[in-house]
Amino acid sequence: MPKKNILNLSLEDLEKEIIDLNEPKFRAKQIFTSLHKKNVTSINDISAVPKVLMEKLHGHFYLPSLKSVKVTESEKFNTKKFLFEISAGKEKHFIESVLISENERDTICISTQVGCNVGCEFCATGKMGFKKNLDASEIVAQVYEVKRLTGITPTNIVYMGMGEPFLNYDNMMESLKMLANEDGLALSSKRITVSTVGFKGKISKFADDLLKEENKSIKNVKLALSLHSTDNGLRESIIPTSVKNRLPDIYKELSYFYQKTKNKITYEYIYFEGLNDTDNDVKRIEKLLKMVPSNLNIIPFHPIDFELRKPLDVFNVKKDINKLLSNKKLFDFIARLKNEKVIVNLRSSSGVDINAACGQLAVKN
Ligand code: SF4
Repeated sequence: MPKKNILNLSLEDLEKEIIDLNEPKFRAKQIFTSLHKKNVTSINDISAVPKVLMEKLHGHFYLPSLKSVKVTESEKFNTKKFLFEISAGKEKHFIESVLISENERDTICISTQVGCNVGCEFCATGKMGFKKNLDASEIVAQVYEVKRLTGITPTNIVYMGMGEPFLNYDNMMESLKMLANEDGLALSSKRITVSTVGFKGKISKFADDLLKEENKSIKNVKLALSLHSTDNGLRESIIPTSVKNRLPDIYKELSYFYQKTKNKITYEYIYFEGLNDTDNDVKRIEKLLKMVPSNLNIIPFHPIDFELRKPLDVFNVKKDINKLLSNKKLFDFIARLKNEKVIVNLRSSSGVDINAACGQLAVKN
């Protein structure tokens, strides 16, 4: 029998495995805590386990490692970007995660896929194409490794790194439960946000799943929709999958999500000067934000090199980070939204200087 990845097992599955090994069920919790709270990097380091059980663990399981290849630190922001290597058989893949420390929050932005096949026009990950889904252990290991490397326990986690979480749904759900498990990291699910471009049927399924008894530890997970435009035509030109997932259908899904979960929605809105900042945009956004309790995060556009890795050179505008952050038209757009009583925040461009800001994550593979 091939050995199983012990970090990929839910607590319930680990309990079944331990019972199958003729060991008392409570040992599973001890092991789960060593893996998901103490973040041991070797089976040998699992604490308080008798020698006989330790031998059985070695015989039946392996503990994969996420190899840290590079840590890049921003000079302008309190942001670090982590490049990790994942070995899958003979293949090697690379993913990125970001730690953003600001306003007394330490937020880790994690990836759910290697690459992404949605292909959003503004996103470097989308230009990589799709390579593979991460399993639950590879998703949570990013948090544990960042914690180990920096000594910082995250206050918040956002599923906004490489990949579309809803296209890796089962692994995303499993990883959420691991991060919120009270015998593991025990992060309140209110402090976890999953971001999606929106797929018909999947947001409502997410709402239904969050309400299931077995998912009660994650019932308060927040949802963010990558909106970027309230105009179907423009949205379709920047998010290819929105052709089949038109806004009226997505809005119905979001209403359903709120009615079921009572969790507020966040809309992510990349500001494209002259494209999605008209008075009609302001009116449509105002109407949308009245639909369910929600807020709008405006994100400055972070230029990327479509051949990857030369972020600020391509568009020949806003090369200077300070200019990027002090665009008068952007602030005028925000003021017009506030006039309409829209709850709007300007998301910081933390990490833009190290290709770690929204839309900039990508690795050559
Ligand atoms: S923005 Fe998200 S969904 Fe779109 S290509 Fe990038 S990773 Fe994929």
